[in-house]
Amino acid sequence: MAAARLGELLQELYQKLYDAFGPQGWWPGETPFEVILGAILTQNTNWKNVALALTDLKAEGLLDPQVLRAMPDAELAQRLRPAGYFNIKTQRVKNFLDFFYRQFHDSLEEMAQEDLGTMRAALLTVKGIGPETADSILLYALNQPTFVVDAYTYRVLSRHNLAPEAPSYEELQALFMDHLPADVPRYQEFHALLVKVGKDFCRPRPRCPGCPLHEWPISG
Ligand code: SF4
Repeated sequence: MAAARLGELLQELYQKLYDAFGPQGWWPGETPFEVILGAILTQNTNWKNVALALTDLKAEGLLDPQVLRAMPDAELAQRLRPAGYFNIKTQRVKNFLDFFYRQFHDSLEEMAQEDLGTMRAALLTVKGIGPETADSILLYALNQPTFVVDAYTYRVLSRHNLAPEAPSYEELQALFMDHLPADVPRYQEFHALLVKVGKDFCRPRPRCPGCPLHEWPISG
């Protein structure tokens, strides 16, 4: 498909979802640090469980990199219990906190000064942070123009003949980044809208009637 046509179709897709669902208000979190923790904790669990853990940490004034780094692993694990896989997530949070101090002295301002490619590569060296989590941190906590893709993205795009077969994470991501302007609020909203349509309609067994993309014409 010609690049210009693909760009148009992606814009159309965005508009249809936005018109149907409106702004999604992603990512929930009062501070960029909270957004980063949320991005790590939401792996393999739903947001409601993550929110419980974050709310408790916040209520006790513990949402602070130094405080969390100094907290014994066993205590942090208990506090992360609502988010599921709490022992693994404790290690992932600690890995990130070590990295954050070592490279950026706990400063998000310092972190945000790195260029996108360098920052992304650095985040991917942290054990437990994969491409989706790294891009979520970059896009939603640091407002960097990178697109987040996931299983919902692939499902929606492939069912509308817009994705190649079995693309890698980077190939699927490039589909957006090569064909849309690097617009942070638009990237933030677009990913959230794809998750919304994926959860509400484009399930393993799709619920096409009633979906805003029902009969959306795609000419491959
Ligand atoms: S549910 Fe159907 S119409 Fe909606 S995105 Fe999935 S395949 Fe498209």
